[in-house]
Amino acid sequence: MAAKKYIIDRGCKLCDACYWACPQKAVYAKDDRCHIDQAKCIGCGICYQNCANEAISIHEENDKISSTGETV
Ligand code: SF4
Ligand code: SF4
Repeated sequence: MAAKKYIIDRGCKLCDACYWACPQKAVYAKDDRCHIDQAKCIGCGICYQNCANEAISIHEENDKISSTGETV
């Protein structure tokens, strides 16, 4: 489990850049956007650096995140 939580929100355009960049293969597509499997994610931030649409946000490990990617 990563110390920081990386979340993909509704700004995702399904360009797949984060999918190909992730060394852990933690990104998957479901419904109309990509998601991050938190069990696989190591918090390296490469997906965040590769998203041209600013669809990935960084949260503290203990933040509660809604299904749409917002902090609650
Ligand atoms: S890089 Fe950004 S826009 Fe592209 S699939 Fe990943 S989260 Fe979505
Ligand atoms: S932070 Fe790193 S391990 Fe986690 S989803 Fe992004 S690229 Fe993959």
